[in-house]
Amino acid sequence: MAWDFSTEPDFEEKLAWMREFVREEIWPIETIGEEITQAQLDAICEPLRRETKERGLWAAHLPPELGGQGFGQVKLGLMHEILGTSPLYAPIAFGCQAPDSGNAEILAIAGTPEQKQRWLEPLLAGEVFSAFSMTEPETPGSDPTQLQTRAVRDGDGYILNGHKWFTSNGSIADFLIVLAVTDPDARAHQRASMFVVPVDTPGVRIVRDVPTMEHPYERYGVFGGHAEIYYENVRLGPEALLGNEGEGFLIAQQRLVPGRIHHCMRWLGIARRAFDMMVERATYRPVKGGVLADKQTAQTWIADSVAEMQAARLMTLQAAWKMDQFGSSAARDDVSLIKFFGAKVVHDVVDRSLQLHGALGYSGDMPLEFLYRLSRHARFVDGADEVHRETVARHVLRAIEPPADGVPTNHIPTRREAARRKFAHILEAVPAEA
Ligand SMILES: Cc1cc2nc3c(=O)[nH]c(=O)nc-3n(C[C@H](O)[C@H](O)[C@H](O)COP(=O)(O)OP(=O)(O)OC[C@H]3O[C@@H](n4cnc5c(N)ncnc54)[C@H](O)[C@@H]3O)c2cc1C
Repeated sequence: MAWDFSTEPDFEEKLAWMREFVREEIWPIETIGEEITQAQLDAICEPLRRETKERGLWAAHLPPELGGQGFGQVKLGLMHEILGTSPLYAPIAFGCQAPDSGNAEILAIAGTPEQKQRWLEPLLAGEVFSAFSMTEPETPGSDPTQLQTRAVRDGDGYILNGHKWFTSNGSIADFLIVLAVTDPDARAHQRASMFVVPVDTPGVRIVRDVPTMEHPYERYGVFGGHAEIYYENVRLGPEALLGNEGEGFLIAQQRLVPGRIHHCMRWLGIARRAFDMMVERATYRPVKGGVLADKQTAQTWIADSVAEMQAARLMTLQAAWKMDQFGSSAARDDVSLIKFFGAKVVHDVVDRSLQLHGALGYSGDMPLEFLYRLSRHARFVDGADEVHRETVARHVLRAIEPPADGVPTNHIPTRREAARRKFAHILEAVPAEA
């Protein structure tokens, strides 16, 4: 029977190297991240990217025929756990940053050979950035069947009109992957199609990077921005269409399931980093009657965090394993489970660590307040937690029949009567003791 939680020694060596590399080469970038330009960041990352390529750790999420390492989701999960400790910068050095990693998967799944050559190859080589443009301010991202952005047929091409926001990296991207309705009368999940739109196409108007909890002050054109974009009579040729007309949601689903679990994997790293800070602080912060580590509340937070992180890790890796074995569709419920469970774990662990640090945790002198702001969106991006809970509960409920007579299956008086009948011959033969 196969039931193995170990990591191959060869791969464990790679992970050990990654831990050291991320801590020594990437964590320092965080401290100057706000004061450097995109060009300076690119220059800092360039030698790091060269090194991960030489070590065969670049773009590990894709199969070898597409220029990746073909590691599969479990190994990727173990890698992302390390990269998640520095969630803004580490993935860039390993060529698996969102949204590029998911967009590469879209191009790999749905792109023609020409589209792959024009967009996927430079994306994988780290020569260009991409963005995924689906969410609109006017319609709920949780229900993309309500999308209003339209791509109307015009000759053999399309005219695109719409308003999007939270197109991550839109303001530094070379191309945008846009979801737009092509047939409003089709069945809900066949209305939309997906297009590759070069960012310099006339009519693409990027108005700003939206200030967020992550970056509260307006700034523009830096990695990690979330662009608001108007598409105004953007003329697209037939080569812009990805897959077939009406396949937009189908392709998006194939991207979203892996994209979702990759977030969950990175949250493990964020939680771990916050946890390590919490434990370290507990060991030396003197409070009344000892150090924080002597207090039961601190001990409870440490123990609860260990248990929750362990649960999230096992759930994530098990979902990843299922994806490797049976494909991403088979793991949809498992990924929904870890999406809302993992989002709560990362939130709670970061929150406890921040609380334990008091004013220091709240200050910009520690990474905790940033990790708190950054990970807050985990609870609603990639499908709000409420929606994932609903999906999981619906699937569970679908498999259950209500009892025909309205009596619960476990109703004790009913079962007791049945048990008395079942064992009557024994009960009669063996008299109860007086
Ligand atoms: C940092 C960040 C990066 C992002 N990057 C991208 C990107 O690159 N590309 C892109 O297209 N989008 C991106 N998004 C947008 C993201 O995908 C949406 O925010 C998400 O899909 C939720 O959509 P919404 O914000 O419109 O919220 P809504 O859909 O309006 O939902 C708001 C809330 O309503 C509740 N709710 C909604 N539906 C239900 C339901 N069925 N049952 C119960 N409660 C419900 C939930 O509490 C939910 O949080 C990003 C967002 C953030 C914050």
